Amino acid sequence: MENNLSNSWYNSIPKVELHLHLEGAIPSDALWTLLQKYGGDSSVQDITALKEKFIFRDFPHFLENWAWKNSFLREYEDFTFISEEIAKDLLNQNLKYLEAFFSPVDFEMSGLHPSKIAEAIRKGLSKVPGIEVSLIADLVRDTKIKKAEYYLDQIYEVKELGIIGIGIGGAEHDFPPNRFKNIYEKARHYGFRTTAHAGEATGASSIWAAIRELKVDRIGHGTRAFEDESLLDYLAEYQIPLDMCPISNVSTGVIAKIESHPIKKYIDHGIIVTVNTDDPKMFNNSLAEEYMNLKNIFGLSRKEIQLLILQGIKSSWQSESKKNKLINNFQNNPNWIQD
Ligand SMILES: [Zn+2]
Repeated sequence: MENNLSNSWYNSIPKVELHLHLEGAIPSDALWTLLQKYGGDSSVQDITALKEKFIFRDFPHFLENWAWKNSFLREYEDFTFISEEIAKDLLNQNLKYLEAFFSPVDFEMSGLHPSKIAEAIRKGLSKVPGIEVSLIADLVRDTKIKKAEYYLDQIYEVKELGIIGIGIGGAEHDFPPNRFKNIYEKARHYGFRTTAHAGEATGASSIWAAIRELKVDRIGHGTRAFEDESLLDYLAEYQIPLDMCPISNVSTGVIAKIESHPIKKYIDHGIIVTVNTDDPKMFNNSLAEEYMNLKNIFGLSRKEIQLLILQGIKSSWQSESKKNKLINNFQNNPNWIQD
């Protein structure tokens, strides 16, 4: 077993991630700073208590805490601050390329405008060279359709800030995806790529709906695809990538224990799988830990883990020339070839 992560091969190798929510990746110190800025919270006395707050009973409990945390992001400068801290933290873990969600809809209560949030995020990210971050606007399933369309239009106005796609996260169990059919059509018309969280809180039918109704390029999670064998065949045949987030699924109670996670089954079935952390500061996970689990629990070799990382680059929404350049950089990185 390889358990010492900080000095491990898993930590040292160059990485790519396609499924990370900026609001779920705020380093604890930075979130603590924001809590103090806004007068604190009596239920959270120190950083240890803050970390303990992020232990979840189930998926609704996770969503409840997600909203609580977001209540401490109130000004544009807060987004610049967290984005810089997140980028530094990920660069330290040798993340080279990231496609990150941000959820402007969640901050309407604070009167924040979606395009200005995007500007503030880009301002923070651009302070950290060495990691390239593309943005995906999460329109959130729970949003009323008229409002979602307004947000899509606003995001389109600032597309040049590196916003490459849209998605829907949120309460999958309460809001089926077909409501968003026209929004996704319009997003494609605007030149955005598309994804949807599906098969996380609910089952295979939700993944089918994301494919058939929303015509997504990628599926966020897709964890419960195993409920329908014909869906597994379809995903493999049409090579629709799944952004898999194993530790996240255990943390939110979607999967009972890591050993039961279907990721290996999907790889063996010929499905394109990428490995991601989702909300690393809420689940206390890292890509290094996810890779280590692939070896220790699912028996993947280093070569197989490298193939998954390269699959992440290929499944990303960069141009083909950028993908090829990144693959080349990874394969020539001294830590990549080290045994
Ligand atoms: Zn997610």
